[in-house]
Amino acid sequence: MAFALKGVAYITGAGSGIGQYAAYSLARQGVRSFALLDRNPVTKTVQELKKSYPDVKVKEIELDVASENAVNDSINQTVKEFGRIDYALNNAGIGGALKTTDEIPLDDFERVLAVNTRGVWLCQRAQVRQMLQQEKLSESPRAFRGSIVNTASMYGVIGPTLTVPSTAYATSKHAVVGLTRADGIAFAPRGIKINAICPGYVLTPLVQNTMDVELEFGNPMKLESKKVPVQRFADMAEIGDSIAFLHSEASSYMIGASLVVDGGFTIQ
Ligand code: NAD
Repeated sequence: MAFALKGVAYITGAGSGIGQYAAYSLARQGVRSFALLDRNPVTKTVQELKKSYPDVKVKEIELDVASENAVNDSINQTVKEFGRIDYALNNAGIGGALKTTDEIPLDDFERVLAVNTRGVWLCQRAQVRQMLQQEKLSESPRAFRGSIVNTASMYGVIGPTLTVPSTAYATSKHAVVGLTRADGIAFAPRGIKINAICPGYVLTPLVQNTMDVELEFGNPMKLESKKVPVQRFADMAEIGDSIAFLHSEASSYMIGASLVVDGGFTIQ
């Protein structure tokens, strides 16, 4: 697998899980300039990246993606450091409570939407404004001014199962799929490629945190794991590699797509 990625990456939620492994995948494909953003420290990601690729340059930025000013400022800081943004991954997200609409408190519902949906929109708005000002990296007809990948979820294309009643989460991720389609259409003619990745269950801290949740019918994640046709949760690197594909010229004819990477869960 060689995608020959050359530009500058901007990754939110880079301190853990999918964002962390997406950074490793992009580095493996050639990226050497990274803006790594998270509300928590990205120290571990930076250490691992520098251990494997001593020539990487990293700008670490503390960011709450729900804050408009902070998002705009993070784009300015990245451009000041590296001159452009080629591969944006809007990935920061939270799971929220496993509750149905009659039970979830409004504050919980709104926080999930603030991070998972508003956060992606704020980042994407700032990124397209920047990308519209930059030239393509190469003369290839497959090249774009920039590529954006939004981390949605398989629960952005199907409803949550009865076992995992994540009302707010599914609502927020369906919105990310809708935003990706709307802006995919709007910005393809202007040279920006926007797609979504829709992972199934991935063994990240977000999922590990729900491993000890007990609902009246038992532990939802243990029950869910038995439903995956491939009989396991995804490795974080498998999602990172799919993100690298979406940023590469190998996916140059994919616009506004929702790439489902779920071990066969949603086709049942
Ligand atoms: P994770 O908890 O390991 O990582 C999420 C990261 O986002 C953390 O580092 C966290 O600090 C950061 N973050 C959370 N809120 C933030 C905010 N307001 N501003 C900035 N950073 C913030 O979880 P993960 O599983 O790697 O999740 C990454 C993305 O993948 C999320 O959008 C999640 O919904 C999505 N996803 C995960 C799975 C899965 O099974 N793990 C499946 C489908 C989609």
